[in-house]
Amino acid sequence: YFRQDRLPHIWCPGCGNGIVLGAFARAMEEMEMNQDETIIVSGIGCSSRATTYLNFNTLHTTHGRALAFATGVKLAEPRLQVFVFMGDGDATAIGGNHLIHACRRNIDLTAIIINNNIYGMTGGQYSPLTPTGKKATTAPYGMMERNFDLCALTKGAGATFVARGTTYHAKQLTDLIVAGAQHKGFSVIEAVSQCPVSYGRRNKMGTSLDMLKWEKENAVHVKTAAKMNPADYQGKFLIGALYQTEAPEYTAAYDRLMDAVQKGEK
Ligand code: SF4
Repeated sequence: YFRQDRLPHIWCPGCGNGIVLGAFARAMEEMEMNQDETIIVSGIGCSSRATTYLNFNTLHTTHGRALAFATGVKLAEPRLQVFVFMGDGDATAIGGNHLIHACRRNIDLTAIIINNNIYGMTGGQYSPLTPTGKKATTAPYGMMERNFDLCALTKGAGATFVARGTTYHAKQLTDLIVAGAQHKGFSVIEAVSQCPVSYGRRNKMGTSLDMLKWEKENAVHVKTAAKMNPADYQGKFLIGALYQTEAPEYTAAYDRLMDAVQKGEK
């Protein structure tokens, strides 16, 4: 599934993007995804470079607009399986409006949002997912705003499948991507990842390995949490399939509406 002609990649040593890409490739393999029936769309940023290394039909688009392009692709060709790669800044700042409306429409796309808490490629600016108090080039004394909880945000906006994984739990991340792809409707998989260069170095988080250990120590699986007292995992974050429900899918609803219009029922 990889394009050998695009290697070596441009990511920094220890970057989590490659782990997410590996999890994605294993999910494609597990589902025996047809390369001609699948399209992968991305915006701009370190994580959005992922599409350029994949041997699929890909669309590397503009900053924050990956979901708008993906929506157009899905409406034109509903038979295609459409995946969207975004980073935290791309998805929730510049593309924040597209994100909430894709959730609301429940269009059958699978969004993989790599959350490394910062704009890596463009110079280490804070994003809406940079935790309060953490440093960025645009927050030299620490981020003073509150950050979004991406999963709570997308669930609240209407996404019908919401999951969170990490680069430490790579096998589980593959399983979550498979589950999201098999869900009919808008699915969001947040992949908590490490940016040791723009984020980790600035916030004295140690090496990439130290950041992976932090993920291991701070992630609590939702099934484990169900057996715990909430006070025992306060300050940590939940991983796993957090939410799933059924709702009319946009392209199917559109087809039904057009059918009714043609029959003169509308
Ligand atoms: Fe990865 Fe950060 Fe380097 Fe970008 S700046 S490639 S996110 S480590």
